[in-house]
Amino acid sequence: MKKWFDYLWIWSLLFFILGFFYIGFAWLGMLDFFIPLLFALFGGNKYFCNHLCGRGQWFSLLGKKFSRKKNTPSWMYSKWFRYGFLLFFLTMFGNLIFLTYGVALQGENVREVLTLFWTFRIPFSGESIPGLLPRWALQFSYGFYSLMVTSALIGMIVMVLYKPRTWCGFCPMGTMTQEICKIHSKKTK
Ligand code: SF4
Repeated sequence: MKKWFDYLWIWSLLFFILGFFYIGFAWLGMLDFFIPLLFALFGGNKYFCNHLCGRGQWFSLLGKKFSRKKNTPSWMYSKWFRYGFLLFFLTMFGNLIFLTYGVALQGENVREVLTLFWTFRIPFSGESIPGLLPRWALQFSYGFYSLMVTSALIGMIVMVLYKPRTWCGFCPMGTMTQEICKIHSKKTK
């Protein structure tokens, strides 16, 4: 029988729709950052990945119809690629913090763009409720939403090309929580 958390893919979908109407909703995506980390840090487990990740469910569901279900190239699961991608992802997250800092403390303008694949800038005015969030929070929203859309698109591309959950093999959150769980289990032995 299906449980409530089997429908969290709806939450994932809603996140992207809400962000499209008001960019400030991008902050809700931080839940998908903190909750898996909390499970890994305090429980030493990947409960989030196994049960609560709407994005993972989304790939499983869409993959039934759209995935070619071909073998994923082994380099995608290799350590260097997973850690390299994690490092790249964290660097991009650092850049996002840097831009937010620029707006907050140095009075820079909010960049109203959706940056896809860290390269393509699409003008995007997502401030449909003016003045609700401070400018720095809006800047963070634009950057974070771009990051979430980009990672979802990469996940969908590899879902179509290979297996439905190929993204999970090198997802930065998956890699981070896996490492935390390893440290956790060493400590509790
Ligand atoms: S690896 Fe990433 S996408 Fe996959 S279930 Fe875990 S958090 Fe979700």
